[in-house]
Amino acid sequence: MDRFVTFDLWETLIADSPELDGSRTEYRVKNTHSLLARRHPGIDIKDIYRAHEKIWQECSALWTNARDISFPGQVRLFIGSMGDDLLTSLDQNEIQTISEIYSGAVLEFRPRLIAGAREALERLASRGYRMGLICNTGRTPGITLRELLKDYAILSFFDSTLFSDETIIRKPDTAIFETALRELGADRRRTVHVGDSWENDVRGAQAAGIGAVWVSPQGQGPVDCPVIKSVAELPEILDRI
Ligand SMILES: [Mg+2]
Repeated sequence: MDRFVTFDLWETLIADSPELDGSRTEYRVKNTHSLLARRHPGIDIKDIYRAHEKIWQECSALWTNARDISFPGQVRLFIGSMGDDLLTSLDQNEIQTISEIYSGAVLEFRPRLIAGAREALERLASRGYRMGLICNTGRTPGITLRELLKDYAILSFFDSTLFSDETIIRKPDTAIFETALRELGADRRRTVHVGDSWENDVRGAQAAGIGAVWVSPQGQGPVDCPVIKSVAELPEILDRI
C-alpha cells in the first residue's frame, strides 16, 4: 500500500536569510525604479520602498486568516501603493516587466537547498513514497518557486505542488491539506506532513487528520509528534512511525 508525505517548503527544504531577503528587496525596488523613472521621472525610490513594505503588511493581514492574494493581485497592490493613478498609467508590458522583476528576485538571490534534502527525497522515492508540497508563499509565486526547485533537481519528486498564491487558501486551513490529499489520491491515515511551523504545519496537518513531523533545529519542548532537526533525518524517522 502506498504511503505519502507532504512537505512544507521554506525552512524545511530550502533555507533563507535576512541578508538574502534584503538583497531581494533592493533588487525589486531598484529595478522597478529604473523601469518607472523613464516614463514617470517624478517617482521617488522611497515611495517604491514604502509600497514594498506596505503590501507586506496588507498581505500579512490576509495571511492571519489563512487567506492569500494571487500573484498578479499582489503586483497590482504593489504598483497601486506607489502612487495614485500609477496603475492605470502603465501598459500591460510595463506591468508584466514589474511582475518579472518582483518574482525574479528569488532567482537572483537564491535560498539554499537544505543539506541532505535531495538525498532524503531520493530515499523516500526509492521506497515508493508518493510526495507533495504545500507552501505558504510570501512575495515569490509558485510559478517561480517551481523553477527554483527544478534547478535544484527536486521538483520531479512531487506529484502535487500547492502554493498559496494559487490556492488562495493557506496553511493551517485544513482545506489546503485536503486538496493535497485529493491530488495525491492519498489516504490521510497513510500520510505524514513535515514542516517547521508549529502552527501552520503541525497543528494544520493534525486538524486535517494527518500525522505531522516537526522540523525544529532546536528540537525543544514537550510535543505530541516526532521532532527532527532537519529534513535529512526524515527517512530514518518514517521507518519508526
Ligand atoms: Mg516553513
